[in-house]
Parts: sequence; structure tokens; C-alpha cells
Amino acid sequence: MNSRRDFLQKLTASAIAIPFLSSVRAWNEPIHSADNPQGSVLRVALMGLGGYASIVAEAMQKCKRAKITGLISGTPAKLNEWGTKYNVPEKNRYNYETFDDIKNNPDIDVVYVTTPNALHHDQVIRVARAGKHAISEKPMALNAKDAQEMVDACSEAGVKLLVGYRMHFEPKTLEVIRMRSEGEFGKIMFFQGQSGFRIGDPNQWRLNKALAGGGSLMDIGIYAINGARYMIGEEPIWVTAQETKTDTVKFKEGVDETIQFQMGFPSGAVASCLSTYNMNYLDRFYLNGEKGFAELQPSTGYGPIKGRTNKGELTQPHITHQTLQMDAMAGIILDGHAPAVPVDGAEGVKDLKIIDAIYAACASGKRQELNI
Ligand code: NAD
Repeated sequence: MNSRRDFLQKLTASAIAIPFLSSVRAWNEPIHSADNPQGSVLRVALMGLGGYASIVAEAMQKCKRAKITGLISGTPAKLNEWGTKYNVPEKNRYNYETFDDIKNNPDIDVVYVTTPNALHHDQVIRVARAGKHAISEKPMALNAKDAQEMVDACSEAGVKLLVGYRMHFEPKTLEVIRMRSEGEFGKIMFFQGQSGFRIGDPNQWRLNKALAGGGSLMDIGIYAINGARYMIGEEPIWVTAQETKTDTVKFKEGVDETIQFQMGFPSGAVASCLSTYNMNYLDRFYLNGEKGFAELQPSTGYGPIKGRTNKGELTQPHITHQTLQMDAMAGIILDGHAPAVPVDGAEGVKDLKIIDAIYAACASGKRQELNI
């Protein structure tokens, strides 16, 4: 813990030079604040009881600071099954017509939205209007304009909006960020991010533009975008991008199969990334600096993450990502902690500005300037 604390202290100082990183507290440091002397627990309602919600729900069983107190689903049988399994009383179970009533429910602090991408915008805004904090899964919305509307609605309602960027709490990832921010790799020159998998069932919502907002870039390429930003520690100022499609039946108009994209950063560093729904074994980050390198592979899967730098193998422990994330988010929401790498709505808007620009670059064939 000492080296982590040193890192956190140094990070606070280096945040002046690197605006990307702000002051932090370790996810598992004991929490004592005037408002919350005993350390309280974040009471979470899960919305959209699908594949990812199941992973979050199981991971939350090990949380010290977050617990499931509400459920929102369109399927009565799931509400019953999950309600029994996670001990959520009937009065805290809602469907998509009734969930605005959470405003009268003191058992719920925050709603975690894990529905298909296109639904996040309206659902988060309804949660905010019910006076509850919101966590939206990635991508936060279908474009930067919608994402900004979510940020504005939460700000108007006086509630917090976070995005489920679980890698921002992952120990090996944070170690690479620490090393980079302390100059151990020297001047950063290059990042490579490869994010992809071969998608199955052609009828799933991920291949439906109306629900997914696009294809691989919205779903998995976003990890390379977000990763380039936290690995390099800067915001990109331009993108170029090229799309290739080998299967026009599975990947219909507006649903991208494979996109290669490049980003330029103010320091002169460049990133070269691949996002695809048509290749397996693509989950790799590589960061190159004048004095060293870091490689993470796998870099963003559920783990264990593996990695090495020019100084040797990364040995930080694997802890279930969503357990770390939800405990850390309790600290952010209840105690105002600032994580090493932000997970707020503004962070989600930045990724969507880049996604908008990548799609525009694919369509026009031209470099897009970015102002993030
Ligand atoms: P899923 O299909 O397994 O679950 C989606 C849930 O939403 C289902 O329970 C479905 O019934 C419900 N739903 C509500 N309204 C719906 C509608 N109109 N159409 C279709 N389904 C509807 O999907 P998932 O894999 O759980 O993904 C959900 C969200 O979580 C996505 O935004 C995805 O990008 C994100 N996700 C994030 C991670 C991560 O590691 N952070 C991993 C997987 C998924």
C-alpha cells in the first residue's frame, strides 16, 4: 500500500502538469469523512438484467461499500428471480414504465444502467429527474451531443453521473499509468490499441444500428480510444480512420465490422488502433516511450490482465474488476473522491467526440481535427 500511497501523493502533484489525472484516494483506503463518519454503503438499483448486469451483480456480492437494493426490468420473471437471489424486496422492483417512482424510494441512491446503448440517454435522464445518481454503461450514448445532454440533465438535477469504465480501477493498468506519469518511460512516442472479438448471433442488438448506434467501435473499439487517452495521458487533437467490411449481410449499413484509426496528441505522440467484430485474440495495448515501454495483453478483458514493462512483469493482484469499480464508485458518489482516471460523464463525452470524429473520418476519408 505504501508505494500506492506514494503514487497517489505524487499523482496529486503531477496532476498540475497532467490535467488528465486528478487528486485521488485508493479505492480500498478506509473512508472517514465528516458527512460519513462510519463509511456508508452505496445502494444500487440495477436496470436491464442482462449479461453484463449478471456479472456486476455477482461481483457486487464481494463489495464492501456497495450493495444491490433495487431492480428494474421489463421481465416480471427476472424481477422475481433476481429479487429472491439478491434479497431485493418487491417494493424496490420496477419495470420501465414505473421506475420514475424511485424518486419516492429512500432505499436507492443510484441506478446502474446496463441496457443496450441507445437506451442509456433517455433512461439516465429519467433517473436524474427522479433525483437519483446514475451510472451508465459504455458507450454512454450514441454520440457526443446526446452524451452532453445526459451530463447537463444530471447537473441540473444535482446528481452525479458516472460511466462504467472498470479499467480505471484495475491495478496493473494503474501501475502503468503511474509509471508513465512519473516519467519512467520517458517522452511518450506511440500507443497501439487492438480491441476486438468475433461476434456471434447476427440477430443480437449489438448488430442493430438503432440499438447499438454503430458496430464494433461503439462496443469494443471504445476501449482502445479510452485506453489511448489514459495510457498516453493526453487528449487527441486529430484522428484519421479507415473502415473495411468483409460481410455486408452480418454488418449492415451503419454497423461497422472493422475500423483502423490513428490519433495524434499535442506532445507529438501518435496512436494506431484497431477495432473489430471479426477477429478473435485482439485485446492488447502497447505504449512506447523514449526510455521504456509497457505492454498489456489481455488489456481490457475481465482479467486477469497481464502485462510487462521494460522493467519486468507487472505483478499487481487480480481483483474482480466490477468489485473494485463499485466500491470505488461508492467513494466517488458518497464521499466525493476523485479517482486516478476520471469516470464521470465528461469522460464519456470525450470518448464519444472521438467516436463521432472516427465515423466522420471513415465517411469523408479526411483527417478530423478534435477539440476535446
Ligand atoms: P444484454 O443483451 O445481455 O443485456 C441487455 C439487457 O437490456 C437485457 O436484459 C434486455 O432484456 C434489456 N433491455 C431492455 N430494453 C431492451 C430493448 N429495448 N432491447 C433489447 N434489450 C433490452 O447486453 P449486455 O452485454 O448486458 O450489454 C448491456 C450494456 O452494457 C451495453 O451498453 C454494453 O456496451 C455494456 N457492457 C459493458 C461491459 C463492460 O465491461 N463495461 C461489458 C458488457 C456490456
